[in-house]
Amino acid sequence: MNSKLQIRGIAASDKNLKTGLYQFIITLGEGAKGRAFFTNKPEWKMTAVTRLLNVPCPICHKDYYCNCLEKNAEYIERQIIDGDLISSVLD
Ligand SMILES: [Zn+2]
Repeated sequence: MNSKLQIRGIAASDKNLKTGLYQFIITLGEGAKGRAFFTNKPEWKMTAVTRLLNVPCPICHKDYYCNCLEKNAEYIERQIIDGDLISSVLD
């Protein structure tokens, strides 16, 4: 799998305890950032991921919208879940 989609950092962005909806900002290769939307009801699951337009996409190098993160959502979600990254940024 593409190392440019490897998560190098994660930060909590927004959370709603009542609805169980959370947002995290993830940092990928080449400094690209994305926003990952999660729900924890009934268990942690990523519902969407979008790229922030801070730098060009590390995959296709467009500096506008593309679907590379969406297309690789499963890989991104797996890193977050398997790596237990959520508990590392939530208290
Ligand atoms: Zn792209």
